[in-house]
Amino acid sequence: MKRRTGQDRSITADWRPATLAVRGGTARSEFGETSEALFLTSGYSYDCAGDAAARFAGEQQGMTYSRLQNPTVEMLEHRIALLEGAEACRTMATGMAAMTAVLLCQLQQGDHVVAGRAAFGSCRWLVDTLLPKFGIATTTIDARDPQAFADAARAETKVFFFETPANPTMDVVDLKAVCDIARERGIRSVVDNAFATPALQRPMEFGADVTAYSATKMMDGQGRVLAGAVCGSEDFVTNTLLPFTRNTGPTLSAFNAWVVLKGLETLDLRIRRQSENALAVGRFLEGRVKRMLHPGLPSHPQHDLAMRQMDACGPIFAFEVEDRVQAHALLDALALVDISNNIGDSRSLMTHPASTTHYGVSAEARGEMGVTEGLLRLNVGLEDPADVIEDLDQALRQVGL
Ligand SMILES: *Cc1c(COP(=O)(O)O)cnc(C)c1O
Repeated sequence: MKRRTGQDRSITADWRPATLAVRGGTARSEFGETSEALFLTSGYSYDCAGDAAARFAGEQQGMTYSRLQNPTVEMLEHRIALLEGAEACRTMATGMAAMTAVLLCQLQQGDHVVAGRAAFGSCRWLVDTLLPKFGIATTTIDARDPQAFADAARAETKVFFFETPANPTMDVVDLKAVCDIARERGIRSVVDNAFATPALQRPMEFGADVTAYSATKMMDGQGRVLAGAVCGSEDFVTNTLLPFTRNTGPTLSAFNAWVVLKGLETLDLRIRRQSENALAVGRFLEGRVKRMLHPGLPSHPQHDLAMRQMDACGPIFAFEVEDRVQAHALLDALALVDISNNIGDSRSLMTHPASTTHYGVSAEARGEMGVTEGLLRLNVGLEDPADVIEDLDQALRQVGL
């Protein structure tokens, strides 16, 4: 009898997202274990020399070396691809390994990239520093305006690269409009979907070609491991991404893959509850602080667009107080919420991007993207939101707000 397997797309095709998150990608060993097995092995053995030769020649299915394949890692890749609605997925050691691989695998000297200027600090470093070093020109634009992508595109433009909502200013990009512009011009759209995850937003439904993830954030969701992922067509993954990653080796460890597999089982529950909590906390803060940047609140200039593209607002938002002194004082007054630059954790965490995640971005670029000296970013966790609100309330009082 054939064992039901979450890797058989004829079986998983009928499963809904919550089912895929728990069972998608599972492949059972001869022991029939219910929970996914953790395969800590760097290599594989062969029954005969001919089998080894056949596997290396690609004539026989099977694994050869864990830089290239691992059963636990493969389960995670299948599961993420199914949740994303993508033909294929490959995981990486970190989100930044995923972003670096997805860009370098498809670009060469003379190419051009248009990127959203509001972005995670290291993503901006790739665009501003790394790519130009290899003769790849880049233009950063206000990604809230789809026309800005069209205006910046040149004959040599190969990639549009952006995140939505963007870290940390919560700029929202019109996925359909921007991906349409890319399609018309034969440009590949690459979306960093770390904030929303496929549980809330599936960019490919709006025409995105490739999605890339820091799985460190909501996918693990409990602040334990670093991981990354890239999703795309079978052709892109096999013929463009894999030659780069197989030989450069930004491979995800089996242990970290296993942790993220466990994380995905509860992704939908966590992200929906954290979105509700973030909405409650955002409503409390509005009016109390200088400015709110919260895609779930009607005061966000792109609230309608965000809610059209996303199933819920997600756990992360930003807000502004007067200046760096007040922002740091507010952080120092917190008793429950941790001062931490991570996001997507089940704990509430707050950071001052200008002095942490975006410290390495030039002051000029920070100004352009709206990372002001008074900006704070909050990840709302799974605590009772009333406790988070009480903590913020007492901290705000201490700094005179
Ligand atoms: C955290 C983050 C990254 C980088 O991911 P790591 O797992 O920390 O390497 C990239 N993009 C966005 C939007 C992020 O939030």
